[in-house]
Amino acid sequence: MRPLIADKHLIAYCGLYCGACKKYLAEKCFGCKRNTAATWCKVRVCGIERNYHSCAECTTFVESAKCKKFNNVISKIFSLIFGSSRIACIREIKKLGNEQYAKLMADHKAVAVKK
Ligand code: SF4
Ligand code: SF4
Repeated sequence: MRPLIADKHLIAYCGLYCGACKKYLAEKCFGCKRNTAATWCKVRVCGIERNYHSCAECTTFVESAKCKKFNNVISKIFSLIFGSSRIACIREIKKLGNEQYAKLMADHKAVAVKK
């Protein structure tokens, strides 16, 4: 098992906090930033191409909800099932900065900000 720590490098491009994910902690996943197999994810590909830490840095869409790549059908379904919001995650990153956001999520053992 990996320890649950605050590390900005464990923030996914979409704003989820991989550092608190069961799969990451169980060493079954490297987390979004190092998961080179996640080529299916348009948000991840976009973040890499733009050299962003996350969509919080996006200059095209100040509000991530307006980006169709970000606010796609799958993310809406996940949001409904788990009551989480990647849009709220991005808002928190903008408000707190990467380090404080990682600390908040690690302290709360949370992968996503609740709606
Ligand atoms: S949805 Fe995409 S950006 Fe978000 S954690 Fe998964 S691979 Fe990373
Ligand atoms: S909000 Fe959309 S365009 Fe902006 S970085 Fe994220 S995926 Fe790319």
